[in-house]
Amino acid sequence: DLLVVGSANADLVIGVERRPGAGETVLGSDLAVHPGGKGANQAVAAARLGARTALLARVGDDDYGRLLLDSQRAAGVDPVGVLVGGAPTGVALITVDPSGDNSIVVSPGANGRLTPEDVRAAGSLFHASRVVSAQLEIPLESVVEVVRNLAPDSRFVLNPSPPRPLPREVLAACDPLIVNEHEAKVILGESCVSERPEDWAGLLLAKGPRSVVVTLGAEGALVASAEGVCRVPSVKVEAVDTTGAGDAFTAALAWRLGTGASLAEAAAYAARVGAAAVTRAGAQESYPTAAEVEAL
Ligand code: ADP
Repeated sequence: DLLVVGSANADLVIGVERRPGAGETVLGSDLAVHPGGKGANQAVAAARLGARTALLARVGDDDYGRLLLDSQRAAGVDPVGVLVGGAPTGVALITVDPSGDNSIVVSPGANGRLTPEDVRAAGSLFHASRVVSAQLEIPLESVVEVVRNLAPDSRFVLNPSPPRPLPREVLAACDPLIVNEHEAKVILGESCVSERPEDWAGLLLAKGPRSVVVTLGAEGALVASAEGVCRVPSVKVEAVDTTGAGDAFTAALAWRLGTGASLAEAAAYAARVGAAAVTRAGAQESYPTAAEVEAL
């Protein structure tokens, strides 16, 4: 079983002709509200593929919290770990201009109140999970607590997004650490002297994780471990909307690892899931079933 620990946000999206400057008001399209947040996205992506999935997260006791719980249940995620209350549900205020460029303000809200105590109290979920997947839209202390609560034979997958320097204890637990180009550069900081993704993978490995995956958008991904570095080919598709592709990739990879696949096999499957996700608009709405991945 897969346990996802992370954020749940309501994404509030307004299309605009032009994004406003300081002190300016612009008129926009009708408001669209979508369930989002990296944790919620990953859990939905895995469950859509058929994984037995639970989400450990926190939402507010409000309409957006109920929207998120509903979308988790509809996808088949076990919502027993979704805690309610303490602050309003996390929200992302997103304006998108006609070229697709966006400006985003995030209010972490309840995500910021998912505490180390909440993680400790979810011990039974950790015991039931072969793989635990996390991101960084919750407090870093809580991610540290996740690592400390892993069952002895379970595997930890981290997408450090939004990226920041990580304690060695967290890095050492990652198997794999999954980063895109931007995240790789932030985690490497000044030690990132090369423009070659193969070099980033090697430099990241030297920071302690047992394995590393670098996602490269339409170029696919790279897998690196003590055995070496290998390329994972991408699947050629007509990209419509790349929102949430990384979350789908990570969820699919984590699930496949839990079924006994090797890292290279799991990454190849995840690349197909990521490719399927970019062929449709939205994040959670765009996630494929296993049959749709098969048909790709
Ligand atoms: P993020 O969304 O975190 O920036 P990427 O853009 O690297 O992550 O996408 C994650 C994965 O999704 C990629 O490794 C790839 O497998 C798949 N993917 C993303 N964009 C495309 C695309 N345009 N065509 C095919 N596959 C894609």
